[in-house]
Amino acid sequence: MIVVCPSCLAKNRVPEEKLAAQPHCGQCHQVLLPLAPIELNEQNFSTILQNSDLPIFIDLWADWCGPCKMMAPHFAEVAKQYPNVIFAKINTEQNPRLSQAFHVRSIPTLVLMNKTNEIGRISGALRSSELKQWLDQQLMK
Ligand SMILES: [Zn+2]
Repeated sequence: MIVVCPSCLAKNRVPEEKLAAQPHCGQCHQVLLPLAPIELNEQNFSTILQNSDLPIFIDLWADWCGPCKMMAPHFAEVAKQYPNVIFAKINTEQNPRLSQAFHVRSIPTLVLMNKTNEIGRISGALRSSELKQWLDQQLMK
């Protein structure tokens, strides 16, 4: 499987059975799948989306959004439990073009992507248990 390093954007080949074993980037030696949300922005978005073989679960949020802040620790908590999914956050204020590309109407909006295909999306703040339930349903599609 190809995993793009969130630190240096190098493409790393990782055997599927090693995904949960905290693989490191061959180039910069940072953890490839940190089990915590990574930051997507207009600079790294295309490289990571187009080249990652793992599904990417994106939280579109903003600083002024109370429900977003309420959900953030839940999203981070659930990220630790899915080594085969990349959890990512997009700050919609800092990345207006991405926010527009996703046609974000309300935040938080959660989008599950597989490469450039949208698998599913849901809006509104969810708790850990609701996040897991929704994500499990989408991954079974
Ligand atoms: Zn790297």
